[in-house]
Amino acid sequence: MYNILIVKYGEIGVKGKNRYLFENKLIKNVKNMLKPLGEFKVYKEFGRIYVDLEDYDYEEVAEEVRKVFGIVGVCPAIRAEKDYTKLKELALEVLEEKIDAGAKSFKVESKRGDKSFKFTSQEMSRDIAGYLVSQVKDKIAVDIRNPEVRIRCEYRENHVMVYSDTIPGYGGLPLGTNGRAMSLLSGGIDSPVASWMVAKRGMELECIHFHSYPFTSEKSQEKVRDLGKILAKYCGRVRLHKVNMLEIQKAIGLNCKDEEMTIISRRFMMRIAQAVAEKRHCDALVTGESIGQVASQTIQGLTCTNASVSIPVFRPLIAMDKTEIVDIAQKIGTFETSILPEEDCCTVFAPKKPVTKPRLERIEKSENALDVEKLIQDAIDNIEVEDLEF
Ligand code: ATP
Ligand code: MG
Repeated sequence: MYNILIVKYGEIGVKGKNRYLFENKLIKNVKNMLKPLGEFKVYKEFGRIYVDLEDYDYEEVAEEVRKVFGIVGVCPAIRAEKDYTKLKELALEVLEEKIDAGAKSFKVESKRGDKSFKFTSQEMSRDIAGYLVSQVKDKIAVDIRNPEVRIRCEYRENHVMVYSDTIPGYGGLPLGTNGRAMSLLSGGIDSPVASWMVAKRGMELECIHFHSYPFTSEKSQEKVRDLGKILAKYCGRVRLHKVNMLEIQKAIGLNCKDEEMTIISRRFMMRIAQAVAEKRHCDALVTGESIGQVASQTIQGLTCTNASVSIPVFRPLIAMDKTEIVDIAQKIGTFETSILPEEDCCTVFAPKKPVTKPRLERIEKSENALDVEKLIQDAIDNIEVEDLEF
């Protein structure tokens, strides 16, 4: 029945000249998202974006389209040649589907795109509703105030169209409209969610992962690769930089206090991430930190982490509870992979009693025992890079 999708997008930031850039990007991103399903005609017409469904199942296509950042909703619709009688028949078809699904009340909402048409929008609604009631009798009632379903009818310049449901999207802004970010991706629950949230605001993503191979397994890297691939579903191709931290962690272990291991490792991660970000033209770092969640994420811990870099650090989860983060992880499909029991380089070398209120001067003093520059350079020289696609 449905032969087209109407793509609805938010209006924020799409005024004036930016609008067509935004729309063109959105069209490109929708086409990309649909590539695994097939080649689709995605196009702009009278300030709207449409996807022709051909013979595809509308639910399957809508499920993909709604994942594109910048889209607030997707409406499966029927479009036909311009003919008012046809419009009424289509409205009946959609209404009957809703009755079969158990709906008890409805309302018709109309739009007249062709201003030369004999009815105004209101007259159209009344006329179509009258026709529908005469056809379905008492199977469903009209309710103007609080209808269960809305039958939306449009009489446009070149065609007629009927639709009812809106499948919600994630909102946000089209990918690539807000610069690039380097995300510190561990195998945990938080960092994939943080990455996704930043990408949702239009930032292109690259990821950096730190491991301690062979102390951490091949499998734990595979897990991160799988998470990167899930992110690539939303972000297009994702480049993953893999850094071996083992020599750095050994040096810290030998020269610094046990309790400072985590915080100093974290500062090394940030410095390396910043160096790679600058090389790759990324404008910010992203982490999955949340205030108070663990010892290294106290305000003192975060202050020490922050002080190791000069690039902006985005922490979209900073004020979120774990349960809220888990909800998003489940919604975007990273949760199941994140909870696989693989070790992380931080846990392998985790001190029994990490400092919870590290003081920056003390940490900096401890780091004086290390050849920070050389350790960083050696780690960077051995980075492995992979491009991940869904
Ligand atoms: P996550 O669930 O994202 O692993 P977490 O609650 O386990 O987070 P930490 O282990 O303290 O918290 O890490 C805080 C943040 O530091 C992570 O969200 C991530 O951005 C970054 N991070 C930690 N370990 C790694 C790693 N091995 N590789 C890359 N980034 C890391
Ligand atoms: Mg972690």
